[in-house]
Amino acid sequence: MSDLRSLYQEIILDHYKRPRHRGVAAEANREAEGYNPLCGDKVRVTLSVRDGRIEDVAFDGEGCAISTASASLMSEALAGLEVEEARQLFERFHRLLTGDAVADEEELGKLIALSGVREYPMRVKCATLAWHTLQAALDGTDQAVSTE
Ligand code: ZN
Repeated sequence: MSDLRSLYQEIILDHYKRPRHRGVAAEANREAEGYNPLCGDKVRVTLSVRDGRIEDVAFDGEGCAISTASASLMSEALAGLEVEEARQLFERFHRLLTGDAVADEEELGKLIALSGVREYPMRVKCATLAWHTLQAALDGTDQAVSTE
């Protein structure tokens, strides 16, 4: 387990130091902002959605290692998915972090690297901020998302 743990930490650090999909999505047509007052994380997610599919996704903002790595991992996982698949992935990810789902690598891919966060309830909000913001962008909600 400790080998797995350090592998997961490496993935998180790598995505924190070299975030993927940072910036603004090409031809973005959805956007939302999120804020986690507990930690100070801020994120903006932009999406390009065409015919029910996420063609591009990007994020920017300032946040801690967990929130940045999570936004980067999320963006990487979402590109090319159908909107419905993206919502299902969020549900699985959320269940993983709230502890009542078994970590299934086949379902979650690299997102599984964040599974250790469930032992730190304060950090769960850091890890789910980008996802809640994604959901608001998909729903077309204009109001900024807050985890509180
Ligand atoms: Zn945070």
